[in-house]
Amino acid sequence: MIYLDNNATTKVDEKVLEEMLPYLKNEYANASSMYEFARKSSNAIKNARIQVQDFLGAKDEKEIIFTSCGSESANMAIKGVVNCNKEKRHLITTTIEHPCVLNVYKELEKQGYEVDYIGVNADGELQVDELKEKLRKDTAIVSVMWANNETGVINPVEEIADMIKTRSPETKFFVDGVQAGGKILIDVKNTQIDMVGISGHKLHAPKGIGALYVKNGTRITPLINGGHQERGLRAGTENVPYIVGLGKACELASDALDFELKEVKRLRDKLEQGILKNVFNARLNSNSLHRVPNTTNIGFQYVEGELILLHLSDLGICASSGSACTSGSLDPSHVLLSIGLPHEIAHGSLRLSLCEDNTPEE
Ligand code: PLP
Repeated sequence: MIYLDNNATTKVDEKVLEEMLPYLKNEYANASSMYEFARKSSNAIKNARIQVQDFLGAKDEKEIIFTSCGSESANMAIKGVVNCNKEKRHLITTTIEHPCVLNVYKELEKQGYEVDYIGVNADGELQVDELKEKLRKDTAIVSVMWANNETGVINPVEEIADMIKTRSPETKFFVDGVQAGGKILIDVKNTQIDMVGISGHKLHAPKGIGALYVKNGTRITPLINGGHQERGLRAGTENVPYIVGLGKACELASDALDFELKEVKRLRDKLEQGILKNVFNARLNSNSLHRVPNTTNIGFQYVEGELILLHLSDLGICASSGSACTSGSLDPSHVLLSIGLPHEIAHGSLRLSLCEDNTPEE
């Protein structure tokens, strides 16, 4: 098998699994319990929180909240800010966000909020000037993804954060960092970004664990009420093995970042150029210079994406025609339509996403 769908999910790293196993076996104590047996679990969470803090460049470990996934992180950030700022009725996001952001905005729109969706150019790059124009004093929150899951295009989120805080300092800024984590450097320390979401299964931790960075001083309400876990912001007995797995995966991803930026990019470029050169009517769906190193998205005229995927599958190659969340539906990708691609090209597109495990032979 040749696995080229790492933006959908990744293989759990052996070292991550090894680190998790004791907490799935003998170290099963509830991390909140008082006795000595629980100490190892609570220390393991503390250690993982510091690993995630370092990975994101946060100043304080208290700024890290463990969640169940990237979708929960986004929901918590957006709904959490909106609930704390009921008087602010305007929201901004982009047309290319993942459904875990877009559908929260759609829901809020139904509740009477006014939403501006900012578009992208023909290479999938955000129209930052348009965002600047739409920003208002009563904008409660702006959400912009760090990197797009389909095209890999990186948005200038640090710059956008500065712009937001200059023009409307009270507006909060959430960045969906799910596809950026492990592929480019995330360092929130010297930025004005308020919140960043990440997801374990995109960086070789298991599915079912994520985290949300919430800058000190940013007020949000919890999505899940209950016990005091995660400083009362996310109730539920801590999932110690998965938290430990996410921490380790973050540490490994930081160590592997240079390799990702050089070697994975080199393989991606080779694959991309090989396809463009050899396949008639293949074209890159984004020529942006600002793309994560592992992703390419290629359109093929006159061919259905699903058909390409089935043929590739017969050859043992795993790829995708859009985001995993929209596969199974026959609608073309909302991201590729936002770029301005006609339906037939958007339909005939292929996303290939690599990781450090892919080889030149593949
Ligand atoms: N955000 C982006 C950009 C994604 O690509 C994904 C998953 O594909 C998510 C959020 C959702 O993450 P999770 O699957 O952990 O809920």
